[in-house]
Amino acid sequence: MPRKRPANAPRVLHRSARVALRATPAQARRLWQLLVSGGDVWACVLELNALRRSRGDAPLVGYQALCRELARAGPGTFGELDSAGARSVLRRYSDAWFAAAKARRAGDDTARFPRRRRRLVPLRWYAGTFSVEGRSLRIPTAARRPPLEVRLAREVPYPPDRIRSVTLVAEAGRLYLDVCAEVPLAAHGPGQGPDPSLMAGVDLGVIHPFAVAGPGGEGLVVSGRALRAESRLHLADSRARRRAVARRAPSKGQRGSRRWRRFRARTRRIEARHRRRLSQARHEAAKTVVTWAVDKRVGRLVVGDPVGTLEGDAGRRHSQRLRDWRPGAWKACLFDKAEAAGIEVVFVDERGSSSTCPNCRQRVPKPSGRRFSCPHCGLVGHRDLVGAVNIAARHEGGGDIVSMPETITHRRGGRHLPGAGRSRRDPRRIRWDSHRARRGSWPAVARPPEEPPEGSSSSVGALPLEDPPTAA
Ligand SMILES: [Zn+2]
Repeated sequence: MPRKRPANAPRVLHRSARVALRATPAQARRLWQLLVSGGDVWACVLELNALRRSRGDAPLVGYQALCRELARAGPGTFGELDSAGARSVLRRYSDAWFAAAKARRAGDDTARFPRRRRRLVPLRWYAGTFSVEGRSLRIPTAARRPPLEVRLAREVPYPPDRIRSVTLVAEAGRLYLDVCAEVPLAAHGPGQGPDPSLMAGVDLGVIHPFAVAGPGGEGLVVSGRALRAESRLHLADSRARRRAVARRAPSKGQRGSRRWRRFRARTRRIEARHRRRLSQARHEAAKTVVTWAVDKRVGRLVVGDPVGTLEGDAGRRHSQRLRDWRPGAWKACLFDKAEAAGIEVVFVDERGSSSTCPNCRQRVPKPSGRRFSCPHCGLVGHRDLVGAVNIAARHEGGGDIVSMPETITHRRGGRHLPGAGRSRRDPRRIRWDSHRARRGSWPAVARPPEEPPEGSSSSVGALPLEDPPTAA
């Protein structure tokens, strides 16, 4: 829960960062034990309420009532877990219960009250109960237990006095610390901050995660090639891995061997790494857009909401792409960074934005490639930027400010990813390439590159493509 702040205090936002832990084997054992103790607290609450239910009593779900119950249990009930950490589990339970109750009241019958046991439950400590100094973290333990000090893999990206809470979590067999901090809004000098009258249209997409058309004929295109390469390599790799072990996979309902369990653990680690890489690239791409917008003093981003694009059957390969895309995550990422920079974000329906000419407003058959060309007035341009211009026009006043970009900046999302270029060694790419050499081209041969050279700022007028326009 955010703390109460005086009404006239400057506005802050809450942002969190995930930091890996560098624990010694002994420390790691203790940290895992803490998470298991969190699971014990969780199971206790479930059991308590199951008992009350069988006796016909009302469930105990209020945070304070649960805390009283915990205090009655006395110290040392949950191993090394201190009361602040144990209470965070009670808070989690209480929040989950009330969220489910609220959803059910609103008519959602699929909402479930917490009822499932979990082996590990994340633990949160609020400010004042832990300390972070440089790369050292100290978390409290139960009375008369030795303190727990762990090294962090990197410094926390927030000043220590702004950190509000730390959460110990486990993902795919690794321990992490989620650090939540109060972040002040970006401060700008008078006449230098984002100006809400300056707008930009943002088109979200699979090929180009962000295409932005701003005021003054400025445009930005962020390429998602590296992200797609990462997704494709991951898909090919996980398929090959599954094929390799298919013979010794246990049949349904059968207990797997130790070797099989190791394979499953490794798969989970690979999946988690893939998700981490995509998420990092997503943050970097959104940061690129916000930095560009701040530079151009854009105070309002009109973002096309891809509602309806995920419905319907799009075919096997395209459905996979759409699922990998995760537009909600892209929207949230852009929104959070824009908010911290003092830029307003408005979502509008993007349907039909890539099949209307921004110049003569006539319907145009949806282009199959990246090049948009209007058979009515002869306008030729980047399809995603056309979409961005149309999206901006759907907001009041946006049509007067945003025109078809003439200066286009090209940036890459996720340029550090191992799948991004052949210069970086990625074992999956080597495996995949040798596989292709044996089997012919699989999957389908990529279309000839249509994207302009990336990573450079170019000024190529309204024709971002090298081929000459065909329709006039
Ligand atoms: Zn036209």
